[in-house]
Amino acid sequence: MRPSLIVHGGAWDIPDGAVAACQAGCRRALQAGWEILLSGGHALDALEAAIIVLEDDPVFDAGYGSHLNLDGQVECDAIVMDAATLRAGSVAGLHRVKNPVRAARAVLEKCPHMMLISDGAERFAQEHGVPMCDPADLISPAEKEAWLRCRADSHAAEHHRGHEQGTVGAVALDESGRFFAATSTGGTCCKLPGRVGDSPLIGCGCYADGETGGVSSTGYGEAIMKVVMAKTAADFLRPSSSTPTRAAQAAVQLLANRTKATGGLILLDKNGNPGFAFNTPRMAYGFVNADASFITAV
Ligand code: ASP
Repeated sequence: MRPSLIVHGGAWDIPDGAVAACQAGCRRALQAGWEILLSGGHALDALEAAIIVLEDDPVFDAGYGSHLNLDGQVECDAIVMDAATLRAGSVAGLHRVKNPVRAARAVLEKCPHMMLISDGAERFAQEHGVPMCDPADLISPAEKEAWLRCRADSHAAEHHRGHEQGTVGAVALDESGRFFAATSTGGTCCKLPGRVGDSPLIGCGCYADGETGGVSSTGYGEAIMKVVMAKTAADFLRPSSSTPTRAAQAAVQLLANRTKATGGLILLDKNGNPGFAFNTPRMAYGFVNADASFITAV
């Protein structure tokens, strides 16, 4: 089987000044994951490596540099899903996990449940060797400054360099046919403490099914949940007349028609063919082309 990898760094009104950084981040994520896939490695390792690069990059809203909630804290959500078993590992409301995707993976591989939140999720992650951090270590200077401006004035996208979203995601297929999707986010800026969006919810922020494909969504979570966007996009891959691009576009169109909201998604169909769509001004994404070259765009 030909391996395949696609990543995204969020669909939002990415300002001109952040375009190069978003594109470079997607490229580094592809490099990290592709190296593993090329050497015959496991899709889950490739996916995790790609997402960690994006989580560690403060230009994206996941892990370090996530948006702060109203209380000025980072609260992260993440999910990993296995297309073969339809099993997911999902975590929400994390303050102390350096790379939330690692906690999601621990739930996927070692937990009898599929979703853990808050203290229980952190305790489980710690018990399973996931690196922890001080909550302050997840706060970037830029997001702290944005939060202070929102607090002094009122919440506004302009205070966040024009962006309100920047969730990250990836879908990976390895040469043995192992197939996983993942999404990781700090959620929306100035969210109420305890708010959970679409990202860690199976079928909304992420879905993977070996009969259809793997999907990671981004955009306004409260709207994406209404149309269960990731599962919907995967189902749009079912008709034989469908293509990855058409399925992605149809799901984003549904989001627009039914909720008037904006967002985007990336996907791989069950054979590893990439597709993406967004109705935001921009989306940061990248995938490995059939000739093994990296395509990245914002
Ligand atoms: N979907 C995420 C959320 O609502 C935000 C994003 O995609 O950037 O939490």
